[in-house]
Amino acid sequence: MPQAAMPDRLGHGTNRPPPRCGRGSARALLLIQGPSHPTAGRPLDYHRLIAARALGIDASGIRRVFDLASQLEDPVNLSIGQPDFEVPEPIRRAAVDAINAGRNSYTVTQGIEELRRRIAAQVAGEFPRWQPASGEGTADGYQCLVTSGVSGALLLAILACAGPGDEVIMPDPAFVMYRHLVTLAGATAVHVDTYPDFQLTASRIEPYLSERTRLVLFNSPSNPTGVVAGAGHCRELAELCDRCGVLLVSDEIYDAFCFDGEADPGGGEAGVPGADETAGGFVSPARYSENVLVLRGFSKTYAMTGWRLGYAVGPAPIVSEMTKLQQYTFVCAPSMVQVAGVTAMKVDMSEHIAAYRRKRDRVVEALGGMYELTRPGGAFYAFVKVPEPLGLTATAFVEKAITEHGLLIIPGHVFSLRDTHFRLSYACPDATLERGLGILEHLARG
Ligand code: PMP
Repeated sequence: MPQAAMPDRLGHGTNRPPPRCGRGSARALLLIQGPSHPTAGRPLDYHRLIAARALGIDASGIRRVFDLASQLEDPVNLSIGQPDFEVPEPIRRAAVDAINAGRNSYTVTQGIEELRRRIAAQVAGEFPRWQPASGEGTADGYQCLVTSGVSGALLLAILACAGPGDEVIMPDPAFVMYRHLVTLAGATAVHVDTYPDFQLTASRIEPYLSERTRLVLFNSPSNPTGVVAGAGHCRELAELCDRCGVLLVSDEIYDAFCFDGEADPGGGEAGVPGADETAGGFVSPARYSENVLVLRGFSKTYAMTGWRLGYAVGPAPIVSEMTKLQQYTFVCAPSMVQVAGVTAMKVDMSEHIAAYRRKRDRVVEALGGMYELTRPGGAFYAFVKVPEPLGLTATAFVEKAITEHGLLIIPGHVFSLRDTHFRLSYACPDATLERGLGILEHLARG
């Protein structure tokens, strides 16, 4: 019988015979059939088969919330991380037309030409000092990769740049996926405390930079805090990362959801109108450096969370490694969704954004007086401190909210090493938000 090819450490196949199995612990789960197999007749020990990288991920915090929630009949759900509006009709039509026109095959790994051209136009408008790479394998300029959501881009970026012995800096609190992806890559997550204003500033990061640092993960507007970084912070951060030779990864999935001031697409020099700290609109650190990996998505802006589309633009040597990894994992982003993405980028979402601004204002108005709340400038979250006189951890507060009032919110420790705050999402109908705010007002009184 021919031996199965076993990959060696470089990933090349060999024809070495597989090592014979040792005796697993006796968990009677499944019997392997076939007299010639070395483990024939022995129960399969699934636990032995699970790699440390999977076991190292603890999803119990969020699972507990969902378990409690599943027992509720009519929950007031302020826990959802996706818009409550529908995907705009022209985008849905574009996807259906693409399917009917036969755009159903694999695409090139880097993404279809139409969408990449549209992204390049966006980059040219926003980051005038960025130049496209002159060709494959070049060290200069930027490259673009269309991905399966920003999650796909994050995974590829972290796998491409960080491994055992390497460190990845991230804010605390941060989007839950960050630390788990770093664990998955075998690298070490370094959490930089950003309480109470939730700004990941250069001066907060600097003490944690070392020879081992590979990446800094930055997210503005932020999940879970809704905080938006100003131009000054973005500039200092980009300059620090440049100086120290680490890659700044800017997760800009909520870029469309910025509520204070005009989004500033300008040339990005300090002193330019709109580029100051107080403008309040969206600013990318990529305005200040070509060495930033920008990750953007369609999930939040167009409510396309299930469609799985995003992209990465940044230094060609990094993006080309990510492209190679995508080739052997995701292969490509969904073909018809890529076609619809071209249409999406032309759709005006300002009415939906204005509605979310009003919901944000309502949250600040209702909770501002009774809870400690750092004003959220964007995304659709608020990260609210549990009042100290209540003497409750966030986990205990959230359990009370769920079990006694049917209000679903997420305890801070899901995102953080601390358990003092909770995240509420106002991506919900106004009536649901009002019910939730009423319950929170009641809970604050103890
Ligand atoms: N980054 C952040 C900060 C997020 O909140 C999310 C989704 N909740 C993602 C990335 C992933 O988004 P997607 O994969 O749907 O593009």
